[in-house]
Amino acid sequence: MARLYDSRKRILVTGGAGFVGSHLIDRLLEQGHEIICVDNLFTGTKRNVDHLHNHARFELIRHDVTLPLYVEVDEIYNLACPASPVHYQHDPVQTTKTSVHGAINMLGLAKRLKCKIFQASTSEVYGDPSVHPQPEGYWGNVNPIGIRSCYDEGKRCAETLFFDYHRQHGLDIKVARIFNTYGPRMHHADGRVVSNFIVQALLGQPITIYGDGQQTRSFCYVDDLVEGFIRLMDTGPDVTGPMNLGNPGEFTMLELAEQVLALTGSKSKLEFMDLPQDDPKQRRPDITLAKTTLDWDPEVKLTEGLRRTVDYFKTRLPELQVV
Ligand code: NAD
Ligand code: UDP
Ligand code: UDP
Repeated sequence: MARLYDSRKRILVTGGAGFVGSHLIDRLLEQGHEIICVDNLFTGTKRNVDHLHNHARFELIRHDVTLPLYVEVDEIYNLACPASPVHYQHDPVQTTKTSVHGAINMLGLAKRLKCKIFQASTSEVYGDPSVHPQPEGYWGNVNPIGIRSCYDEGKRCAETLFFDYHRQHGLDIKVARIFNTYGPRMHHADGRVVSNFIVQALLGQPITIYGDGQQTRSFCYVDDLVEGFIRLMDTGPDVTGPMNLGNPGEFTMLELAEQVLALTGSKSKLEFMDLPQDDPKQRRPDITLAKTTLDWDPEVKLTEGLRRTVDYFKTRLPELQVV
């Protein structure tokens, strides 16, 4: 048994050197747990966990989850996967392998240890949705052969594996469908809209609007998301998900650009560019299930979350100016 004390758990976080994973680790360490962070540093960076370098309850293991992993833990959060279109399309075969082989290995680990396992799934399982907002019962509208499919279908297959391990082996699973999340430690160059707009505004470069900017997204601040993760993990075995976690506030990309310009005081102009293939036109979570099951409701408004994210990118400005 890995447990040292009743309330202290040893927790594995895969993808822990990434944006969301590093915030999750901070919260779990604050709660007194011991963390094993497994990451191959493909899109994550040691900088995100540098502040934990000498922390007695933190360990970073450089490892690819497509390979078997033997550790002894009480809980697993499986976050390892590139998340932005630019990153996951860089090596699409590896993206599918990470979702599918990574899920099999982490589920095999959870099966051996008889421990709870959480999966970071995504709103992308709904594809370009024809139902709005999206409840968990909606099966989605996903192109199986497009340039986003390596991510969308990989995550869908990972959900299938989670539910089959649950049915076949009785695993205690928690599947969260995460909607667009933003905050400090986003990768400055991974092409996601919030980091793109903020960095462009701070550097006085044109704000790149894809298409006419009327497509919508719902943006959740990372602290709210992490709170949802921990509450979902703390539920009993009858709660499996899938459960939407996201902020239902819905904005067009033009509205987002206006907010970023106002917050930064930037004089950047808007530059309209082609809309990428299969780009979903609208996305907003129905979070009734999370509200009723977890008593969870995101608290950080977009303006406040953007302000905190702008402050973060300001601290990184000297590095960003030279790249
Ligand atoms: P991120 O790219 O910052 O973090 C992903 C981490 O996984 C990185 O540290 C990366 O190095 C690591 N990784 C990738 N492939 C790996 C492999 N084969 N083995 C080990 N480590 C590997 O992305 P993020 O935004 O922090 O996303 C975290 C998770 O949440 C992902 O699973 C993503 O699909 C999911 N998610 C995120 C969002 C969002 O808006 N941020 C939305 C939906 C779902
Ligand atoms: N696995 C792992 N760590 C463990 C146990 C299993 O990485 O502690 C991996 C192993 O690579 C295996 C996969 O998980 O192939 C699935 O395990 P499972 O027990 O479901 O299947 P099997 O071992 O029978 O293929
Ligand atoms: N987008 C944009 N300009 C950018 C980056 C993205 O207009 O510089 C748009 C993109 O086309 C999409 C939305 O913003 O409609 C969100 O893109 P992101 O890559 O952040 O997330 P996802 O498409 O995966 O939801």
